[in-house]
Amino acid sequence: MSAIASNLQAVLLRIGSATRAAGRPEGAVRLIAVSKTFPALAVQEAIASGQRAFGENYVREAVEKMTLIDSSAGAGRPEGALEWHMIGPIQSNKTRAIAERFDWVHSVDRLEIAKRLGQQRPPGRPPLNLCLQVNISGEASKSGVAPEQLSDLARAVSDLPGVRLRGLMAIPSPEPDPARQRVSFAALKRLSDALCDLGLKADELSMGMSSDLEAAILEGATMVRIGTAIFGARHAG
Ligand SMILES: *Cc1c(COP(=O)(O)O)cnc(C)c1O
Repeated sequence: MSAIASNLQAVLLRIGSATRAAGRPEGAVRLIAVSKTFPALAVQEAIASGQRAFGENYVREAVEKMTLIDSSAGAGRPEGALEWHMIGPIQSNKTRAIAERFDWVHSVDRLEIAKRLGQQRPPGRPPLNLCLQVNISGEASKSGVAPEQLSDLARAVSDLPGVRLRGLMAIPSPEPDPARQRVSFAALKRLSDALCDLGLKADELSMGMSSDLEAAILEGATMVRIGTAIFGARHAG
């Protein structure tokens, strides 16, 4: 078995046992394999092991990989559709490519970006699934909408054509202590519940990475975004 195949299996086991420990139904948490900086070949190995949902941060890199994978014949070609998730910061000059090539965008934190994505979604495609990224740790340097501004943004996004508001995403500041990891995830869950109280159906929670997926699942994550634990360490540059 390849390293990626066995890593994938180990991550699925972690997700399964955290889901059970949380008393949540099997299949309540979906794995998004974060393939940024890794080549199409690595994605194809994951595909061969049954993985279908992939997360990417850089549009150009992602589109190159998608094109390679789409055009590869035989062994590397997936049975069943792949699902591509944009999880990185979004520049407005990249929205067209995102609207055309991705199925989900987790990192929307401005109305302007959501509008462009909706306008540029090709007719005939289903609406682009959006999550709003929330700056849950309150760090000045991080992207994400401030919690106080979330409900206004969510209301405005939910009225846009071409996109569908699905939930929230957060990247809390790194925290080694699992009990403390849960605090930020619980805060995102409360924000999500508050949106539901406003009548907005945005119940997907994209939270949890390689080092904190268990804490995220205990607090209600529906999608975990896992890179290192599947593909290995990323190299700088
Ligand atoms: C890179 C990245 C991940 C994956 O992180 P790992 O720690 O490698 O699992 C998840 N989410 C976002 C937004 C990322 O940029």
